[in-house]
Amino acid sequence: MMCCKECLDLLFDYLDGKLDLDTHSSLEEHFQDCPPCVAFLNTYKSTTTVCRDTLNQIEMPDMVQEKLREFLKQQKLEN
Ligand SMILES: [Zn+2]
Repeated sequence: MMCCKECLDLLFDYLDGKLDLDTHSSLEEHFQDCPPCVAFLNTYKSTTTVCRDTLNQIEMPDMVQEKLREFLKQQKLEN
């Protein structure tokens, strides 16, 4: 069973669909036993959806997209 920190570290990739199957299921297993992480996931989802829409709608230079991703990661660490 992964710990909450590991879980949160993987959230970004999880929402991006970038995790391999094993990691993905370990994460969902963790969610089943950890309501706080689910609550965080939901908050995180609604935040990233806004940014994601922006990413999808506007043509942005790679560097700007990178900055936005960094920002999201930073936000994840601070919350
Ligand atoms: Zn947890």
